Amino acid sequence: MKAVVVEEVGSFTIKDIDIPKPGPGDVLLRVNVTGLCRTDLKLIRTGHRDLILPRVPGEEVVGTVCELGEGVSDFSIDQRVYVYPGTSCGHCRYCSAGAENLCSGMKIMGFHRHGGFAEYVLAPAKSLILLSDTITDDEAIFAEPLSCCLNALELANLSKGESIGIWGAGPAGTLLCRASSALEAQPYVIETDERRLPPLRGYLKPPAMTFDVCVVAVGSDDAYHQALSHLNMRGRLVIFSGLSPDKSGIKVDFNQFHYCEQMIIGAYGCAYRHGRKALDYIGSGKIAVRDLVSHRMPLEDLEHALKLVEKRDCMKILLSP
Ligand SMILES: [Zn+2]
Repeated sequence: MKAVVVEEVGSFTIKDIDIPKPGPGDVLLRVNVTGLCRTDLKLIRTGHRDLILPRVPGEEVVGTVCELGEGVSDFSIDQRVYVYPGTSCGHCRYCSAGAENLCSGMKIMGFHRHGGFAEYVLAPAKSLILLSDTITDDEAIFAEPLSCCLNALELANLSKGESIGIWGAGPAGTLLCRASSALEAQPYVIETDERRLPPLRGYLKPPAMTFDVCVVAVGSDDAYHQALSHLNMRGRLVIFSGLSPDKSGIKVDFNQFHYCEQMIIGAYGCAYRHGRKALDYIGSGKIAVRDLVSHRMPLEDLEHALKLVEKRDCMKILLSP
């Protein structure tokens, strides 16, 4: 099968590799569509904490079941599924609390095991969610990034009626905005790139406004400095976007958090249960995603697609093998 393979950080090749055989509990999927996100750019160009080489990247996958491993009875051939990209031990304190993204045994598709930038991908049956006919492949791709947003908003304890400031209006920032609306909070978006402003009318931050929750969905230390100064009393700052190591040592005045009873909250990835929630929101139309697709291209055009992400000349790019 055709696959994108990263053998060393900084480059990739597209080559023929063997179609994997499903082991016990696994399902072989034909990849229908795979989403490209900023994390893939980071993983390929500069590496990632969780990346083990050589690797086929791709953690946003919608596929069709084409072969079942021993003992798999919950799925049948030709069913369409969304893949929750993680697998975890299932019994540690984090897994038991529904936060398996923090499990020390966490293995992420596209990082620890091969992902969806290929014609076929293996996934454990327990990581799959069956798709209903009301949701298209393209829409279902957003279940993964939306899951990460739902995890962040849950950790921030965002409540109905609260204000939330979201830095960055890329795909993640826009999904955070729409998810906040679905939760009946009041989102505002802070974006400096004028190309991304038109769809945001009605969500732009009034001057001098501060927020109950601030989420930074852009890898910018400057955005974090701004967010720190826009928190209400008891406001929560969510560290949603990681920063490059040379920028992550942000100076924070602890007295601000002491006197204002504020909190800093980290958010990384998502749990399986967020995938179900995300698909419910998308399938019911409560969170629209279709307009976020800016490009569709074949997997062979990955280099071009990465350049678009680098230059922020796109929203969501969908790749087809
Ligand atoms: Zn665990």
